[in-house]
Amino acid sequence: MPIFEYRCNKCGHKTEFLEKSGGKNKHVCEKCGSSNMQKLFSGFSVGQSNQGIDSCPTGTCPTGTCGLS
Ligand SMILES: [Zn+2]
Repeated sequence: MPIFEYRCNKCGHKTEFLEKSGGKNKHVCEKCGSSNMQKLFSGFSVGQSNQGIDSCPTGTCPTGTCGLS
């Protein structure tokens, strides 16, 4: 499940929210209670679950952990 980082436009507090599909979530700042939250696209936490990559760039490493990426 994707985690998105939001920043409060009122106090600047950053919070991470789990976002379900549908995108109708309403997030509220846990510090000041403002619902004026802006989604940040930091890039991390998206696509980080690919731990089982089994493709070695050289094609010779059986585990894909040769580090030649
Ligand atoms: Zn706030």
